[in-house]
Amino acid sequence: MAAMKPAMLFLALGLTLPARADDASRLVAATLGHTPLLRDLQSLTDEIGGRPTGSEANRRAVEWGLARFKEAGLEGRAERFTMPSLWLERRATARFAGSAAFEAPAVAMPFSAATPAAGAAAPVVDGGHGTEADFKRLGVTAKGAFVLVETGELVDLEGLFREYAEAAEIERRAFAADVAGVAYMASRPRGLLYRHNVSIGPKNTRPMLIVERESAQRALRFLRSGRPLTLTATIEVEGGKPYEAANVVADVRGSEKPDEVVLIGAHLDSWDLGTGALDNGCNVALVLDIARQIQSLGLKPRRTIRFVLWNGEEQGMIGSWEYAKAHAAELDRHVMASSYDIGSGRISGFLTNGRPELDAVIERALVPVAGLGPFAQAPDPVVGTDNYDFMMEGVANLVANQESANYGPNYHAGSDTFDKVDTRQLKQNTAIAAAVTWGFANADVTWRRQTRAEIQALVDGTTLKDQMIGMDLYDVWVSGQRGRKK
Ligand SMILES: [Zn+2]
Repeated sequence: MAAMKPAMLFLALGLTLPARADDASRLVAATLGHTPLLRDLQSLTDEIGGRPTGSEANRRAVEWGLARFKEAGLEGRAERFTMPSLWLERRATARFAGSAAFEAPAVAMPFSAATPAAGAAAPVVDGGHGTEADFKRLGVTAKGAFVLVETGELVDLEGLFREYAEAAEIERRAFAADVAGVAYMASRPRGLLYRHNVSIGPKNTRPMLIVERESAQRALRFLRSGRPLTLTATIEVEGGKPYEAANVVADVRGSEKPDEVVLIGAHLDSWDLGTGALDNGCNVALVLDIARQIQSLGLKPRRTIRFVLWNGEEQGMIGSWEYAKAHAAELDRHVMASSYDIGSGRISGFLTNGRPELDAVIERALVPVAGLGPFAQAPDPVVGTDNYDFMMEGVANLVANQESANYGPNYHAGSDTFDKVDTRQLKQNTAIAAAVTWGFANADVTWRRQTRAEIQALVDGTTLKDQMIGMDLYDVWVSGQRGRKK
């Protein structure tokens, strides 16, 4: 008798093979090996470049995603949807005049209003940091003026979340004071410019700018020594109309429970000052690479693994919202949806968005990549990427929690380019994401979709409500336009 292989022994004993644990290790090894991960990242960022939704580059990126899935042996599909309002900057300038005359490098904030071709001119007032006290000090002088707001330098993720939260407050005060517009001092030094959405999105009616930090400081020195300035802002925008965009979706069909979905996604769109490498080309490449390795190893997950390259993320996570609407009938069978969107800093664990019951599955799934840890999970709900609509629909969802690394300083900026990506860490993050995806695709599940009441408890019991207000998402939740209805 030939020596019995371990597999035959298991069969002979009537036991099931621990094959899926073994598959996880093979998948991890494959992602850590030689793969086209960086070729994909370079082609998306260097060749296609910045790809705001609605742009020609974005349409090329959708075709690119479809071609990449096809090359991996998967049937990709473009799931089309309507974006509410086009916004692309054609040109933005800022010219200060008065005690001195100088042109300041500037960009329009997404959803800034356009100005007349000759520009919109108004006196500039020193908005300080845009606090309640600052607007009180300005009183009626803010009305009809450009408020120039000083910012602290952005160095890390914490600063980024703070910048968003503060901007929403500053803009609320500025609009209440009936300003002509807001000009923010850029929060990154040395001439770096970036885009930062106007907090109220397409509802905004005013010109809104980010002005080069050094020029804004120059202007403030004049104002603070009692020498007045006017600002002429010229903003040319292509926009206003609804338009079509698409998520790119591909499935590896489940062998036992094909109707149950484990989703892994990253957004394909980016802003256009840089080439969208940290935000979020690197994680698009990560998602594609996992799909490719699962397919080329011929692995058979129990559940369907769905790979999604989201679109319209930067305009308010529109692609994932539209997905939730289009797939409403299947959401009860979405076991987990994960998002990767914090650049290439080390994945230090997962944010479970109010679902600590996921921890045990995550921790088991991470065993094959234990050497890339340590990892720690946190239950904090996070608003700002494509997990949002899954969270608000009660679907278990994860966001990879990553070390800040260089994400903050390059966020939405001209400097977000291929060379900023930590390629070694991105490989390791791919292995981590592969292990977690595989784990959920095969795990025993103890949770179910949450009801509206349960989601409401999360809104009320955490920072979620404040985050939603800061991103203009709270009213549409309360009114039932966005999120689970019952
Ligand atoms: Zn992003």
